[in-house]
Amino acid sequence: MTAAAHAAPAAAGRRRRLPPRFLPAPTVAETPRYTKIVATIGPASEDHLPEMIDAGLSVARLNFSHGTAEEHRRRMRKIRAASADRMTPVAVLADLPGPKMRTGTFPEGSIQLGVGQEVRLRPGSHEALPGEVNINVDDLLEAVHPGHRILLADGQVLLEATAVEAGAIVGTVVRAGPVGNRKGVHLPDSDVHYELPTAEDCELIQLARELGVDMLGISFVGKSSELEEIRGLAPGLQLVSKIERKSALHNLDEILGATDGVMVARGDLGVELDLEQLPLVQKEILQRSVRAGVFTITATEMLESMIEAGRPTRAEVTDVANAVLDGTDAVMLSAETAVGKHPIGAVSTMAKVAMAAESSEIYQRRPRLAAGAERGFFSRATAMAAVHVANAVGVDRIVCFSETGNTVRLLSRFCPSAEIIALSPRPDTVRKMSVLAHVRPILFRREENLDAMIDTAADLLQARGIVAMGDRVVFVAGIPVGIARSTNILKLHRIGEDARFT
Ligand code: PGA
Ligand code: MN
Repeated sequence: MTAAAHAAPAAAGRRRRLPPRFLPAPTVAETPRYTKIVATIGPASEDHLPEMIDAGLSVARLNFSHGTAEEHRRRMRKIRAASADRMTPVAVLADLPGPKMRTGTFPEGSIQLGVGQEVRLRPGSHEALPGEVNINVDDLLEAVHPGHRILLADGQVLLEATAVEAGAIVGTVVRAGPVGNRKGVHLPDSDVHYELPTAEDCELIQLARELGVDMLGISFVGKSSELEEIRGLAPGLQLVSKIERKSALHNLDEILGATDGVMVARGDLGVELDLEQLPLVQKEILQRSVRAGVFTITATEMLESMIEAGRPTRAEVTDVANAVLDGTDAVMLSAETAVGKHPIGAVSTMAKVAMAAESSEIYQRRPRLAAGAERGFFSRATAMAAVHVANAVGVDRIVCFSETGNTVRLLSRFCPSAEIIALSPRPDTVRKMSVLAHVRPILFRREENLDAMIDTAADLLQARGIVAMGDRVVFVAGIPVGIARSTNILKLHRIGEDARFT
């Protein structure tokens, strides 16, 4: 939904007097969109940010695998300026390159490999001799054994290792195609040694901190100790673990215990796994993440044809809708917005497709955090009760005061039918909550006590057309106010009523 729509006075401003209590709850005029949109910002989009925010952008992704520090700095400034201009919070996700295996360069810029051809593969990232391919893997000769698969150009070209020679692996081409400079390489059968974070990642983490980004994308994460190390280097940033290698799937539980969010990174994952496994693995990652309290982004090739075309394919529209029905918090655009011809159209298409999926009855059955484990945690129990009550009573808005965003994240994991209005006095909390499905984060000044908070919130939400006089809402709060992790209050409230605690 657009910022303008947020700010529009509800047709309901002059709607009705406070109704008697036995009348059904008045419905709010406009249905919000619940699924969030992440868009990669590049040359095609950096000068269209206000329109993209109006079209539904909530998280701007800076892909640190491409571009210079100066470009990232400039894009960061533009994102913050557009967000302020549109009075809409936008989180920034800086995506680290990680230990991505790539080919070196070729004398002609690329080579064409034909079925049955024998190729020598050598460690290194320098220019290859004719008929050879360099790969930036130091232990290539030790890791690759005869029989292993070697995938070049992000999986398009397939070789089988047939022999190990002095200084080279000999591979025979099984699936033909072109291979260009610095294209992605996958060795799904080989045990390649890698370090994460890489030296390059560590430098880029410093850049991310300097820029003041909100989230870090951790490419090729394989285990929780890597996340712990990165958290030490980037205190306060949300970590988004990109699930794109087999080891990450294998260690998913420990990763879910150490991360804030996950990305179903279908680009690289689709090469590591047999492609036909991808739809099922996507569902499994999304289900297990929501149950672990972790937020989710579904990524790569969602509207790929819109890099060129003005409208998506049927298959793409169905894919976006299915990710929404699978319970993803956010859907992501990569090349579509970074370098594509229709950056605004891609965002508005995603928004429309998501809203249509959300209106279906199937969406009500998406995966959610189960009740039961909340014993002992007041904040968790309060969130669970709030969602239960909101669903049972049929209110359209849950209003939550939050310092850290923790309770809001829990509310969203319990998957209410209602929208969660998340009010926080901290701009960083407001931004990071923007990725959560069903959550509309708003900056809100802290008041002295809960009565004043509720009064001020009710005024603000009416002024912004989010609720109308007489609407029923569920407030979630903590007393004493202003203390993190103190959520312990649930109040059923009718806008306009004077129902003070004191
Ligand atoms: P990438 O990550 O675009 O940075 O490679 C996403 C993916 O692999 O799907
Ligand atoms: Mn990837």
